[in-house]
Amino acid sequence: MTSFRALVMERDGPTALRELDEALLPKGDVTVDLEWSDLNYKDGLILNRQGGMVRDFPHVPGIDFSGTVAASDDPRFAPGDRVVLTGWRVGELHWGGYATRARVKGDWLVPLPDHLSTRDAMALGTAGFTAMMAVMALEDHGIAEGEVLVTGASGGVGSVAVALLAALGRPVVAVSGREGAAAYLTDLGAARILPRAEFAEPAAKPLEPEAWAGCIDNVGGTTLARVLGQMRYRASVAAVGLAGGTELSVSVVPFLLRGVNLLGIDSVMCPADLRRRVWNRIAADMPMDKVRGTVTEVTLADLPRLGAEILKGGVRGRTVVNLRA
Ligand code: NDP
Repeated sequence: MTSFRALVMERDGPTALRELDEALLPKGDVTVDLEWSDLNYKDGLILNRQGGMVRDFPHVPGIDFSGTVAASDDPRFAPGDRVVLTGWRVGELHWGGYATRARVKGDWLVPLPDHLSTRDAMALGTAGFTAMMAVMALEDHGIAEGEVLVTGASGGVGSVAVALLAALGRPVVAVSGREGAAAYLTDLGAARILPRAEFAEPAAKPLEPEAWAGCIDNVGGTTLARVLGQMRYRASVAAVGLAGGTELSVSVVPFLLRGVNLLGIDSVMCPADLRRRVWNRIAADMPMDKVRGTVTEVTLADLPRLGAEILKGGVRGRTVVNLRA
């Protein structure tokens, strides 16, 4: 019997590290020896059984992973290939990355660009992938000269978005509620920082003075409503997240009188051709030195505690999981 180690969630009972027989791995055409995974807001929801995303137990969470192909029935992958997986509802409906082995569909895997290590791939993970998707969506609609806003800036997506936009030469304004985040965000490239509280209350009027040439919003709720009324004429908001709430109460006026675009970003079911374009653009333009600087390295045993922390906004930057530790 070949066994592998995994963080296992039971329907009732504690989430714990266990040795599992490889025969228990789900169906799939590629088996991957996992090296790194990561922690995203969604992993926090799953680990804390919020949102009803996991239906079958026992379950292995972890929405992202990187590693080396161990065996493959898919002609596109051979043993030894380095691969990355984000999205596709892995870690929700399919066993995920909080393990030393995974078996998945070849369609879900992306070959890792040459100069990205498997650790780099998870320093980015869904968060980095989504930040790049959001930037590409803004660019598709044209970003005028001027300041670009990033909300939830000290989180995973926010940190990468700040670093990426700054590396692309954009003046970035970071919105953060985290104590002591100013030095961190400035180091990532933020030109200035605004307190989260400035966006916490609804505006008195649907339109405020035009301020932002673009926005990547990780917070939703009142923050997003407020941002929409501050966008410049024909500017776009990439709506990524809901860390501040799922409800959106907003006037139609910013859309009618300022032609504001609200662009939804979905990194989960992102089609394969766009997925490869995003990874190629990451390989070309992502400031990996900055991204690496946001990383905290943890082990599988740390995840139940950190999964609760991230939901409280208590995790800064990116968290990678060393699966061989
Ligand atoms: P993180 O928890 O790392 O970052 C979220 C940040 O939002 C926090 O660090 C904090 O930043 C801010 N925040 C947290 N709680 C609140 C609150 N109550 N009100 C206002 N701001 C708050 O999460 P991720 O970066 O992994 O994900 C960010 C969001 O994007 C999540 O909602 C996630 O589900 C979503 N997401 C969506 C994807 C998609 O495909 N659409 C893909 C990936 C993530 P600060 O302290 O600096 O204010």
